Amino acid sequence: MASSIRIALQKSGRLSEDSYQLFKACGIRFDYGTGKLKSVSSNFPAEFLFLRDDDIPGYVEDGVADLGIVGENVSVETGRQVTTVHKLGFSKCRLSIAIPRGDVYNGISDLQGKNIATSYPNLLGKYLTGEGVQAHIHEISGSVEIAPSIGLAEAVCDIVSSGSTLMSNGLKEVETIFRSEAVMIAHASLSSDKQALLDQLLFRINAVQAAKN
Ligand code: ATP
Ligand code: ZN
Repeated sequence: MASSIRIALQKSGRLSEDSYQLFKACGIRFDYGTGKLKSVSSNFPAEFLFLRDDDIPGYVEDGVADLGIVGENVSVETGRQVTTVHKLGFSKCRLSIAIPRGDVYNGISDLQGKNIATSYPNLLGKYLTGEGVQAHIHEISGSVEIAPSIGLAEAVCDIVSSGSTLMSNGLKEVETIFRSEAVMIAHASLSSDKQALLDQLLFRINAVQAAKN
């Protein structure tokens, strides 16, 4: 009998607070925001790991963590073999292609042969292939939206929620390639006792979500 389940959460970022609040609403207490990498719940058989979001799918695939909360965008981009067990309804955003505001855009074929800067080369590559467009994908890890103004790329593919970051960088959104929200992911083959703990957790999450609606 496994004594507990290990859950990976983003250490500090856009997913962190809502992830913590979700467990709190489920009545699961643990120390959070103390700077520690690990915390054991005082009232549920769970241990929490605090990590960079990009690392979470890999830890869950490897079984270092049994469960994790990440954006679907990150989970799909990493291509890790994990099971999406629940959509959580927060951190909703989209991955979109944007170009300088003054540029003419008639459709996706306008991107043929162009340089596109992104932190999501796999999602973008699949989308372009599906559309029959060949473009040069420049993978950069941050500040993607400044790429056109410094001459690094003619377009970007980045996370958008309100669109204000694009606007303040003189860009306009022309294609949405992926819609994302926070999801709970699980290791592909959980032991039956860990699966039982996951089922308990999902039961509580469903109750919390039902109460909100
Ligand atoms: P880390 O330091 O952990 O690597 P990060 O900077 O890569 O963090 P965040 O900016 O905290 O990541 O974003 C985490 C996730 O939150 C994103 O992968 C996405 O799913 C979602 N997200 C990003 N931007 C927004 C936004 N503006 N509104 C809502 N959700 C967002
Ligand atoms: Zn990250």
